[in-house]
Amino acid sequence: MRDEVGRFTKGLIPWSKGKKGIHLSVLSEFKKGHIPWNKGLTRSDPRVAAYADAQRDRVKKNCEFCGKEYEVNKFRDKTTRFCSGKCRSRWLGKKYKSVNSFYRKEHNKYVYLHIWINKTFGKANKCEMCKIKNKSIYHWANKTGNYLKERSDWLELCPKCHYRYDIERGIRQFEA
Ligand SMILES: [Zn+2]
Ligand SMILES: [Zn+2]
Repeated sequence: MRDEVGRFTKGLIPWSKGKKGIHLSVLSEFKKGHIPWNKGLTRSDPRVAAYADAQRDRVKKNCEFCGKEYEVNKFRDKTTRFCSGKCRSRWLGKKYKSVNSFYRKEHNKYVYLHIWINKTFGKANKCEMCKIKNKSIYHWANKTGNYLKERSDWLELCPKCHYRYDIERGIRQFEA
């Protein structure tokens, strides 16, 4: 569960719910906005050849959550730690509970991003959906899930429209 500005509210472990659209990892979502390293490179570039070589080599690793052995391409040796997305989420769930954990820091980055958005684009003061201007509070809502530092990736919404917007996109679900 999140409050109206997207912070996790105490006591809930959203990654265990498997809800569509929930921001399981702020880190991976930031990555989505990045330009791939091989963009614009041709096959003759040595980096591309090295990448293709690395892809053929397989290495065996042990999952840091369940201990199971799994195989990955060598180039992913240093980036994978778990046999599956499920183990990764479970591991994150455990980690998040400890104060000052890596995941919590990532979550804080998300909070700081909102602070940055407010500083750069100003406080949201209108609703781009219902056009009502006299409400006491407005939010910056992210459109794409990429959390880019670009105005076009964000929408000014009143809390009501924000809530509805998130439900429509499957981020929030109706509560019983
Ligand atoms: Zn595992
Ligand atoms: Zn509205």
